[in-house]
Amino acid sequence: MKKENCIFCRIASGEIPSATVYEDEDFKAILDLGPAAPGHTLVIPKNHSDNLLCVDSDTAAKALGVIAKVAKAVKEAMGCDGINVVQNNGEAAGQTVMHLHFHIIPRYNNDKVQIGWEPGKPADGELENTASLIRDRLR
Ligand code: 5GP
Ligand code: ZN
Repeated sequence: MKKENCIFCRIASGEIPSATVYEDEDFKAILDLGPAAPGHTLVIPKNHSDNLLCVDSDTAAKALGVIAKVAKAVKEAMGCDGINVVQNNGEAAGQTVMHLHFHIIPRYNNDKVQIGWEPGKPADGELENTASLIRDRLR
C-alpha cells in the first residue's frame, strides 16, 4: 500500500524526515515545506491513494476525524482567526503531489492568502439539470 518513489509514502513511513505534528496508525500530519501561512499542515493517510477519487472508504471515513482534531490544534497553536481545509484532486485542480492529502491553512482577518473563485451565474434550469446528472451517479 506504499507506492514506489512517492514522496508522501516515504514521509508517512518516516523514511524521509518531516516536522510531524500528529501521527496514528493510519495518518501522519506534517508541516508543509512551502506554507501559505505559518502552521500550514498536511494531513496524509499512510496508505497510498492518488487522491480522494480513489481512496478506500475506511480511510475516507477516518480522515475527517483526524482533520478536525488537527485543525483545532493548529487554530489554538497559531492563534489564527479561521482555518481553510483545502484538498486538490488532479493536476487541473492544482494537485502537485499525487498522494492524497488535506491542507489545513491558518487564516487571519485581512490576510493576503488567496483561496477562491468568482461566483458564477447559473442559467435558468441549470442547477436542476446538473443536480440530476450527479444524482444519477449516486443511485
Ligand atoms: P498539492 O498542490 O498537491 O495540493 O499540495 C502539495 C503540497 O505539498 C504543497 O503545498 C507543497 O509545498 C508540499 N510539499 C511538497 N513536497 C513536500 C515535502 O517533501 N515535504 C513537505 N513537508 N511538504 C511538501
Ligand atoms: Zn504515496
